Amino acid sequence: MVLYTQKSLEELRKKVNLHEIISPHIELKKEEDFYFGKCPFHQNNEETFKVIPKSNMYYCQECNAKGDTISFLMIYQKMSFQQAVEFLFLVYEVQSEEILSNKNLENK
Ligand SMILES: [Zn+2]
Repeated sequence: MVLYTQKSLEELRKKVNLHEIISPHIELKKEEDFYFGKCPFHQNNEETFKVIPKSNMYYCQECNAKGDTISFLMIYQKMSFQQAVEFLFLVYEVQSEEILSNKNLENK
């Protein structure tokens, strides 16, 4: 398991755009400051799924599914936390800085 530095994770968080990540998968309509679409996490025909660009969070009024970009990738794309973070580092071209564990330092 790779751990990333707080600095690189913060930089990533600043660049991530949840709407950009979700929109290729789910049709979203803009309404004022939000986007609405059909929830991918439960069966329905109503647009109960809301994306909040300001906080990069999603929320479903019907099934209470909520989360951020990483949890969307983990649930919808079935990625592990590690895979989701790596994917976002690549997409947003943020240099990922890894924290070396004590074991790695000892070997050097
Ligand atoms: Zn839902």
